[in-house]
Amino acid sequence: MDNPMDNPMRRFTTTGLNRRRFLAGSATTATALGLPAVTAAPARAGGRGIAAADRYPMWLALLGTAGGPSWWNGITREGISSAVVVDGAVYLVDCGAGAGRQLFRAGLDLADLRAIFITHLHSDHISDYFTLQLYGWYQNLEKAHRPVHAYGPGDRGALPPLFGHPEQVPPVISPDDPTPGLVGMTDSLLRAYATDINDRMRDNLKTDLRRLVVPHDIEIPADVPFHPNDNPTPDMAPFVVHEDDRVRVSATLVKHAPAAPAFGFRFDSHHGSVVFSGDTGVCDNLVRLATGADVLVHEVVDDQWIRGRYGQPPYTPDQEALINHHLTAHTPVADTGRVAERAGVPTLVLNHFVPGNIPESRWAQARKTYSGRLIVGRDLDRIGVGRPAR
Ligand SMILES: [Zn+2]
Ligand SMILES: [Zn+2]
Repeated sequence: MDNPMDNPMRRFTTTGLNRRRFLAGSATTATALGLPAVTAAPARAGGRGIAAADRYPMWLALLGTAGGPSWWNGITREGISSAVVVDGAVYLVDCGAGAGRQLFRAGLDLADLRAIFITHLHSDHISDYFTLQLYGWYQNLEKAHRPVHAYGPGDRGALPPLFGHPEQVPPVISPDDPTPGLVGMTDSLLRAYATDINDRMRDNLKTDLRRLVVPHDIEIPADVPFHPNDNPTPDMAPFVVHEDDRVRVSATLVKHAPAAPAFGFRFDSHHGSVVFSGDTGVCDNLVRLATGADVLVHEVVDDQWIRGRYGQPPYTPDQEALINHHLTAHTPVADTGRVAERAGVPTLVLNHFVPGNIPESRWAQARKTYSGRLIVGRDLDRIGVGRPAR
């Protein structure tokens, strides 16, 4: 299944001819539909412009690169979030802590925001999802093409199994609705903030927030035998979750149990393609999604650090189980290179660093298993995707 010719997405990415055909005439379509003009980017602060990203009509910005719900000691990285920019339109992948502020620091404008993609519902990927809307309300979100679509996992459907041998079964939060998806979560957030939102709609006459950002639970194709506990990552082909005049965005299930469903995303435009792994262990679905792409943005964990948390070996069977639990839901440094090599992507960008505060040299070890261009990501890095403008 690793043969590029088997990849259903390849037809969108391989040749200039196909890229030109893909969404041909998009510029005139946007004008005809009365979409807002893409505004000039505000001044940006910091970050590297790798491969002179300014010359690329498609590029990505790493907004935050730290993984985990933690304020890492001595951290210089914000929570996990990235932006893809295609002909000036902005797409967000995950909204970790600081996502909104970093979006501004990256010189991007919410007036250009088209869609938000949430890989999974762990807090380090969503903690600024609603802040972005509440603050964005006063920062040009009302000028964005309406609505901004937000895509994310649906209701998990069942509580995850208990891990290990706890002495007491923990209580369940919100027993009537213990595993809401993105739509349910958004509804609860609107109700939780109703005092503020109603105040601003009545006193400041702000636009109904529900009309600005519309959440969608990603529907897993019916023929995929997904089960959140028994089969969270079945072998599958990528499927389309969003398409507009700039991009086609596809998803696949990745391996992040017990977080399920958990998605990786691929953005294809007529300029190029970029894949985001989301949080995942090594998984064939991701290799399939990334095959033929120009850039793979991949999460990474330091396996030595994980082991070190449990002291020195030898480990007890329970400790070994915990270590394996972490290492199968995330990808150790050397394996990120192997995944990128299998997918044949020419550029591998590492992000979602766990821990978020160790020297970059540790992450650069991925070079040992990868022959392409490795970028150990930093916040506000800008990376060109596909072909530069002529
Ligand atoms: Zn995470
Ligand atoms: Zn996670």
